[in-house]
Amino acid sequence: MKYLKYDISKTKSGGAVMENTNVAKIFGEDVFNDTVMQERLPKKTYQKLRKIIDEGGEIDIDTADVIAHEMKEWAIEKGATHFAHWFQPLTGLTAEKDDSFISVPLKSGKVLMTFSGKELIKGEPDGSSFPSGGLRSTFEARGYTVWDATSPAFIRHDAAGATLCIPTAFSSYNGEALDQKTPLLRSMQVICEQSVRLLHLFGNEGATRVTPSVGGEQEYFLVDAEKFKQRKDLIYTGRTLFGSMPAKGQELDDHYFGTIRQRVAGFMKEVNEELWRVGVPSKTQHNEVAPAQHELAPIFAEANVAVDHNQIIMQTLKRVACRHGLKCLLNEKPFDGVNGSGKHNNWSLTSNEGKNLLDPGKTPHENTQFLLVLTCILKAVDENADLLRESAADPGNDHRLGANEAPPAIISVFLGSQLEDVINQIIKEGTASHSIKGGHLNSGVTSLPNFRKDATDRNRTSPFAFTGNKFEFRMVGSRDSLASPNIVLNTIVADAFAQACDILEKSDNFEEDVVKLIAQYAKEHQRIIYNGDGYSDEWVKEAEKRGLPNIKSMVEAIPSLVSDKAIKLFGKYGVYNEAELQARAEIKYENYSKAINIEARAMSDIASKLILPAVTGYTKTLAETVLALQQIGADFDVQMDDLNQVNDLLRAAKKALAILQEDIEAAAGKEEGEEQARYFKFTVTEAMENLREPVDELEMIVDKSVWPMPSYGDLMFEV
Ligand code: ADP
Ligand code: MG
Repeated sequence: MKYLKYDISKTKSGGAVMENTNVAKIFGEDVFNDTVMQERLPKKTYQKLRKIIDEGGEIDIDTADVIAHEMKEWAIEKGATHFAHWFQPLTGLTAEKDDSFISVPLKSGKVLMTFSGKELIKGEPDGSSFPSGGLRSTFEARGYTVWDATSPAFIRHDAAGATLCIPTAFSSYNGEALDQKTPLLRSMQVICEQSVRLLHLFGNEGATRVTPSVGGEQEYFLVDAEKFKQRKDLIYTGRTLFGSMPAKGQELDDHYFGTIRQRVAGFMKEVNEELWRVGVPSKTQHNEVAPAQHELAPIFAEANVAVDHNQIIMQTLKRVACRHGLKCLLNEKPFDGVNGSGKHNNWSLTSNEGKNLLDPGKTPHENTQFLLVLTCILKAVDENADLLRESAADPGNDHRLGANEAPPAIISVFLGSQLEDVINQIIKEGTASHSIKGGHLNSGVTSLPNFRKDATDRNRTSPFAFTGNKFEFRMVGSRDSLASPNIVLNTIVADAFAQACDILEKSDNFEEDVVKLIAQYAKEHQRIIYNGDGYSDEWVKEAEKRGLPNIKSMVEAIPSLVSDKAIKLFGKYGVYNEAELQARAEIKYENYSKAINIEARAMSDIASKLILPAVTGYTKTLAETVLALQQIGADFDVQMDDLNQVNDLLRAAKKALAILQEDIEAAAGKEEGEEQARYFKFTVTEAMENLREPVDELEMIVDKSVWPMPSYGDLMFEV
């Protein structure tokens, strides 16, 4: 692969012009996709594999041997030296174990390059180094990675050379899921079965398979790598622990969709090319609300593939940023008081006949099948809001959800005016008789075409919004895996479908009963619908009145994973057994405690070793000024006031630092798990805020040249 050397100095003075890209030629170049399989595999082998990919089933070892051999040959032609089982342990990131293709050296002194079917299908990474939440004791450390043939293998090029990456699932010796992918695949089976049942009710006999489609939009920040290196908080925690936005320039409205700066444009071009090569259909890119914030969205794919794509996107963003002298921040809240980053999970259901179950058509009021699907989703979301909320919980997202510029922590559904009107008709009259139409958009300029508007405007403040033919779940954190929200969505919607099918399959008068059931669900779950401003205080009050849960933090969200309801629900469909749920809750508490512990320690370190000494030095300068003024008999009130103010804040900071240090010690003594996590949340993070306050105030009044690290302004406006 060839990269143009990117000269940053040039971009600052207008931008280097990049080589043109032939997208059609490079797209999927490094993917062992269907075309490659057809070209390379014997016809019978291809057909067997295709059937497994489309319909599921087990692969026999002889077939696997043939596939492995061809995969290896293809990979070596592309320069690969290693293969890796690529998996998604419960750290939220990806992991892999790389093996080279070489086998035992021959007598001749040469080596053979081999890759067997067994190596393709099954791997055994050191299970004990990944979190298992007690599912596997360390003396039974075995864990297996198993090939997921439904997500294509690809070649990754990086500093280590080229590696054949094989997407896999990761489970313990006893088959318990130690990863995100296994339950995701299980949940996809469940939603498939129940959706097919529902389609059959409506006479769609041709439907044999339904797959959840997912498009994940990814938000991120870019900062200059040199400035990043001067911020220990960014290095250790991925977010700033001190600092605040100068009052002016907080939100530059013209930045959104603004012209992309040349340096960033060069970065994006390379990100896109790398993604296209590995078959990730990167489609949209734009600046986001905050300065230095951007977004990338690929075209949607089957849920498990989309989850893999999102992991590849995050890794690619980070890797390419480094090559451009930039750092990509994926943390949900890198800067206090500035818009945070999320990940939007667009979700719909597609049948083997290419029909989207969430497509309302032009006249939704007549589309009974759609209305049943829709009201089932309302029921699922209303009854399981706690689980959805939990699926978006991670330490960084605690600073984002409900923090004024993100969707609130309350789950509600936005339907838009057209569907809300249909639902209201159903609630009032039992059925709906008409659908509001879109009308025409007239710009008043004769040379611009007038076009039909969508029947519904957008709402950007709803956590779960209907957007034409899909739902968009916007709560997910920018750094988090997309797996959890989709596991939850697939399972809760499947359960609602199952309940509806249980009733309607027994009905003697389907036409009548289905309408009744839709009206019943609409009435029972109307409270979850909210079309207003989700960021407003009124909504928080209104939601409370409606009895909707407002789960504000990760530690408060985790218990929903192990509630009786969750254990019953996930158990019924075989998505998670009780032990797997307990393990996940335990790992989440542990992850939270670890994250806050690192942040708190970094904060204490930065304050005591960098900031407070710098401020102390500054007081000396102020004191000397006062003294000098006094000596010549000049007025020194103003300088004295400054000194006193700095001294007061310094005293407050020192006191807060001492408390934080005590709390960190105390946290270490707590019992691991829920108790410790709660202590971190309710005691340590409070101590952190109390330290941050006087320090941020000091930053505002202390001479900039004295401050030991770059400011928010330096980081955000100078990319
Ligand atoms: P937005 O205005 O929210 O950015 P887009 O239309 O650009 O909306 O789509 C955002 C994401 O949703 C993209 O990843 C896109 O591929 C995906 N998407 C579009 N249609 C569907 C669908 N039917 N199911 C799932 N995802 C979809
Ligand atoms: Mg969107």
